[in-house]
Amino acid sequence: MMAQYLEIRAQHPEALLFYRMGDFYEMFFDDAVAAAAALDIALTKRGQHQGADIPMCGVPVHAAESYLLTLIRKGFRVAIAEQMEDPAEARKRGAKAVVRREVVRLVTPGTLTEDSLLDARRHNFLCSFSEIRNDAALAWCDVSTGELRVVSCPRDRLRGELAALAPREVLIPDLADPELFAIIEECAAVATPVAGASFDSQAADRRLCAVYGVSALDGFGQFGRADLSALGAIVAYLEVTQRGRMPLLRPPRREDAQALVQMDAATRRSLELVQGAGGGREGSLAATIDRTVTAAGGRLVERRLSAPSRRLDEIRARQAAVAHFVERREDSGFVRDALRAVPDIERALSRLALDRGGPRDLGVLRAGLAGAERIRGRLGDARADLPPVIAAALATLDGFDALADVLKNALADDLPLIVRDGGYVRPGHLPELDETRALRDEGRGVIAGLQAEYVAATGIGSLKIRHNNVLGYFVEVTAAHAGKMLAPPLSERFVHRQTTANQIRFTTLELAEMETRILNASGHAIALELSVFKALRQQVLDQAEGLARLSAALAEIDVASGFAEVSVEQDWCAPVVDDSRAFDIRGGRHPVVERALRKAGLPFVANDCRLGEGETPAIWLLTGPNMAGKSTFLRQNALIAILAQAGSHVPADAARIGVVSQIFSRVGASDDLARGRSTFMVEMVETAGILNQADDSALVILDEIGRGTATWDGLSIAWAVLEHLHDANRCRGLFASHYHELTALAERLPGVSNATVAVREWEGEVVFLHEVRRGAADRSYGVQVARLAGLPKSVVARAREILHRLESGHAGQTASVQALVADLPLFSAGLGVPAATTGPQAPEPPSGAGDAIAERLRSLSPDALSPRDALALVYELKAMLEDNPAQPSLRRH
Ligand code: ATP
Repeated sequence: MMAQYLEIRAQHPEALLFYRMGDFYEMFFDDAVAAAAALDIALTKRGQHQGADIPMCGVPVHAAESYLLTLIRKGFRVAIAEQMEDPAEARKRGAKAVVRREVVRLVTPGTLTEDSLLDARRHNFLCSFSEIRNDAALAWCDVSTGELRVVSCPRDRLRGELAALAPREVLIPDLADPELFAIIEECAAVATPVAGASFDSQAADRRLCAVYGVSALDGFGQFGRADLSALGAIVAYLEVTQRGRMPLLRPPRREDAQALVQMDAATRRSLELVQGAGGGREGSLAATIDRTVTAAGGRLVERRLSAPSRRLDEIRARQAAVAHFVERREDSGFVRDALRAVPDIERALSRLALDRGGPRDLGVLRAGLAGAERIRGRLGDARADLPPVIAAALATLDGFDALADVLKNALADDLPLIVRDGGYVRPGHLPELDETRALRDEGRGVIAGLQAEYVAATGIGSLKIRHNNVLGYFVEVTAAHAGKMLAPPLSERFVHRQTTANQIRFTTLELAEMETRILNASGHAIALELSVFKALRQQVLDQAEGLARLSAALAEIDVASGFAEVSVEQDWCAPVVDDSRAFDIRGGRHPVVERALRKAGLPFVANDCRLGEGETPAIWLLTGPNMAGKSTFLRQNALIAILAQAGSHVPADAARIGVVSQIFSRVGASDDLARGRSTFMVEMVETAGILNQADDSALVILDEIGRGTATWDGLSIAWAVLEHLHDANRCRGLFASHYHELTALAERLPGVSNATVAVREWEGEVVFLHEVRRGAADRSYGVQVARLAGLPKSVVARAREILHRLESGHAGQTASVQALVADLPLFSAGLGVPAATTGPQAPEPPSGAGDAIAERLRSLSPDALSPRDALALVYELKAMLEDNPAQPSLRRH
């Protein structure tokens, strides 16, 4: 057995091997050590190998899924080796023959199909990336639903595409450069290197043709070499991991990158489209506005928000479907009710195709078809009056009556999870099965009768007839009755089988006969049920393509009615989307912030935003106090554009949007410790990306660009960036800044207009009105906000004092700031600071530590420091100070 184990093990060096032994999957050697630690299960020993104990651990087969989930989440891949024959079969070859075992599946993060391993409302994408000379493509497949797509994708767009798909696993050639690995890891996916041959485009063409049973792929669209290579690598990987059983792949589709709104990874993150700040769905746009009631509908909403359309006809068609359900509330209510009973058809189909499905997967199709039938019955009559998207979806629901009837008649009401035990065929479906079951059940009745008879015959009231897998049926009495049972006359009828600590067990002739009858009948019944299951499965698979389309159609209807639902509930409006350059939002709101405020009983102040048509400037420069609502306003407008082009209504009183081609959002500053970049560096890298890519249909949102560096550097960068957006990119944009000096630009640049978020000062307090108005803010109220935030009173008072001096002096010129610093007492008297350091004069510069520290600082280039280096530096400076505790002078350093 160990020889067999080691042989199989050697074929899958990259995976843990689950080696089936009876009711357990066992792991040995290093696998056992790693898995025992990862799963927190006991590590034991079994036999010896080359003189050393063999470490072993195992998981029961019936609970294997949850262990698999843990292992996959921890980054393992698992090869599953099953017993391919009955142990009795093996014994026929000799007493020591080993049961034949084979790996039937390689479980990897991107190839999961089990509901328990998947998030119902999220796709589980497996991607592959291929570069062939100047061409590059990204293909993706959801094995659990069969979707297979490809898009042309130069490497500089890879991060954005991966961020949109959020795949679990990405295939790349094994000789790929480290940068590719880094990009994939950044997107929290597993990079799986596969042999370069898998990416061969000619082999890919042949492989794809074989999978779809066609002689050429032209019927599915035109694919370039990179497209084929990426698609082929996915198919090759599925062949390897699924060991020849192919999932039901839908025909490959080439997505046109130009047909979708482009957003990079940073933009998606900052807008929190499908993932909130915490990493989960919580707090995201999707979580706030998704009202779909099916898993497939939920997945489609995420996809629409991640990849909004740029095609007017498509956007308008989707909007018309939403409008229909907004107007026809009863229809929407009915459809949603019917859809609630529709389970995940796509995933059930996929499991059936991979021969991993059970009776409940057939049940899913029965329920799905019943739901589809209800919807067809309700909307079908008015088909001519329906918007095209819904009419097309309805047409897809036709043609399944026969299958629906078969499933309805053949399947029992309550279905077991696994095929093996039977019990899922409806009585009346197959006369032979009914007879066999009657025989089996009758046998069970006879046994109950026998027990009564034996109690009477022996006079032992506690005598029971029981069953286990080793003895089959047996008579059991407590040990106290042993003497009576083992002596004639009873011993002539009851044949002793086994004595345990407290019980003694017997068999009888009648019991053995009955047992054979029952066993034969149940075995026969199970075999009959299995053949029914296989026939049903085949009928389903014969119509798989149509069923997958039906599922997609139901998801489409779900999304339209879900968007209608949120529109009515939140009082949204239908936006006008056209090919102008308008961005005219009246009374716009931020759906996520609004919801959070509403929960706290607070109102959200709606705001207008008018960019970019005719005489209207295309860029708004938004200044205003801290906490006024600038970031909220910026993001809400990006979200409105995304919702509109996803086909949804939008949170506004009215909206007109000229199609947006790209959205860029750079909001707030964040460290990227993993990549060793400082806050400022990240900010500049992302800004560079925007300035290099934004075209004149882009919508660009920049929040406080340049704040991560010294004031004058920051202001200069912000200034130049704004000019570049205006002159070169010529895009629509919102630019928020605390640099009030920038507002002067609006006078010089015709396409820039000033806007501000209003606050009122009242008895020394700031009151936030959250109203966006034309005009410029004169100050930031940062000190007031700091006070609201609970900074110590002494610090706030000191900041006020410094601010007052700066504002009344010639603030802005370095020389005057230095003069001011020299002038200002280092600490205010009366704040409990030692007298020696107070007074109009700064203390004399000390020698020693101060100079050394200054020297050290001068030798540095701050931008070259990683956050970690900076922290180390602080320790170093502090140590220098402690070696020579004289106070370094503020004036000099
Ligand atoms: P900072 O300059 O400090 O980054 P900001 O001006 O960008 O601040 P936001 O973060 O957008 O301010 O908003 C601060 C808070 O104000 C929000 O968390 C929200 O509670 C509230 N707020 C923002 N906009 C509105 C609005 N339109 N109506 C009501 N409350 C709002």
